[in-house]
Amino acid sequence: MLPEKKTFRKASLILLALLPLLVSSTNSQPILRTQEKIIIYLDRNGNPIGQSTTSEDSKTYIVRTTSNTEELYGTEAYEIHHPLRGRSSPILIKDADKTEQLIKIKKFEEAFETGNLILLRPLWERKADTKFMIQDDGSGIDAVKNSRENASVVFQNGQRLQILGNACDPCVGGAETRVPGGDSVSTYTHSHPSRRNKNGNETCMFYPQAPSSEDLKIVPYRQTRVVFGRATDKVYIYDSSGVLAVLSTENYSH
Ligand SMILES: [Zn+2]
Repeated sequence: MLPEKKTFRKASLILLALLPLLVSSTNSQPILRTQEKIIIYLDRNGNPIGQSTTSEDSKTYIVRTTSNTEELYGTEAYEIHHPLRGRSSPILIKDADKTEQLIKIKKFEEAFETGNLILLRPLWERKADTKFMIQDDGSGIDAVKNSRENASVVFQNGQRLQILGNACDPCVGGAETRVPGGDSVSTYTHSHPSRRNKNGNETCMFYPQAPSSEDLKIVPYRQTRVVFGRATDKVYIYDSSGVLAVLSTENYSH
């Protein structure tokens, strides 16, 4: 008998009817408007490398990731064969280098033309999401705060909901958050919990921390979504093809 050293279980976000008891509501917040509207450019790791002015609302772009699926989802056998393993959708290192170089020499138009820049959600939303998701502090210890999958939903009318998932044991599995679906939803963001637990000699944790195969499956075509991996302390931006960009939670929030 070959006992598994680790068990990884992860249930993904499922778009279902709203569960009112799990929902706390916050009103929509205005986009932060400053006198000078700027575009901020982040390199593939989320570090600022340039900025330009704009007549439109301020925006932040990040260069696409060069991290491949093995780097984001692991190389152990149980990770490779896990049904919830997602995938990366990276660009070549030379292509990321080129886009970053163009930004550094202020050739912004040409940088956009490379197609390697991903737009982040508005700053107010990133700040609100970060504040909410870091209730799971990443320590993996707390049986409640580190054990639930949280979600925020932004509706077409600008309303924003925060949804606390049910706490669950990674040795048992079943972390999931139910959010409302349908045309009224503009976007949603969710977290993957950091909890680690022991079951005899077995260490259990939630896998994957990056978007799961189920997460990738339910993203509408040509839209992007965001996952906070609380154990890795990283934020992943993805579409149906895979993970497009990765940055630290810290860099995501400002
Ligand atoms: Zn998920």
